[in-house]
Amino acid sequence: MSLTAGVVAVQGDVSEHAAAIERAATAHGREVTVHEIRGSGIVPECDLLAMPGGESTTISRLIHSDGIAPEIQDHVAAGKPLLATCAGLIVASSDAGDDRVDELDVIDVSVERNAFGRQKDSFEAPVTVAGLDDPYPAVFIRAPAVDAVGEADVLATWDERPVAVQDGPVVGTSFHPELIPDSRIHGLAFFENEAAAVPALEDVQ
Ligand code: GLN
Repeated sequence: MSLTAGVVAVQGDVSEHAAAIERAATAHGREVTVHEIRGSGIVPECDLLAMPGGESTTISRLIHSDGIAPEIQDHVAAGKPLLATCAGLIVASSDAGDDRVDELDVIDVSVERNAFGRQKDSFEAPVTVAGLDDPYPAVFIRAPAVDAVGEADVLATWDERPVAVQDGPVVGTSFHPELIPDSRIHGLAFFENEAAAVPALEDVQ
């Protein structure tokens, strides 16, 4: 038996997140079955969830119209892990600074969309992340920055701005950890996250 993972699949790097979850699971001696979430009813079955980047206004609109949004909030309220990346972080935040985004309010931070510039300003940077031994090669694409932190912890900063945060079972990154082979961020969010409950090996076998 394996863990059940979900990737919110209304937009963005869905297959890349699925592959990264599988790599991280393998690195932690776990098996995982990944579902792409395009409608309601699947999130409640999931032990862990990823919400990819894309366009936060579009993702917000679709997860609310599809009925996925309250299921994600229930998932987090149950203490299960969520990794929200880039636009996913914007949607998960408590304040996106944009009326077109109806925030899930599961990470107590406010964000500034496109804080690191537009598409042409995409870049990679070695980011020091709390919990990882070596710097993480973070890929930023029209990335948001966190501009105020409430109850959340800052896991990493770049250019003096928070770019990875954690609020209990939820980890959010401004960057795209699904785009590179290094799956340590997925490992941190799902398999080394002491604030989140993932069924133990013996409980799923
Ligand atoms: N700029 C996008 C937004 O504000 C996020 C970019 C991304 O997810 N790569 O929604």
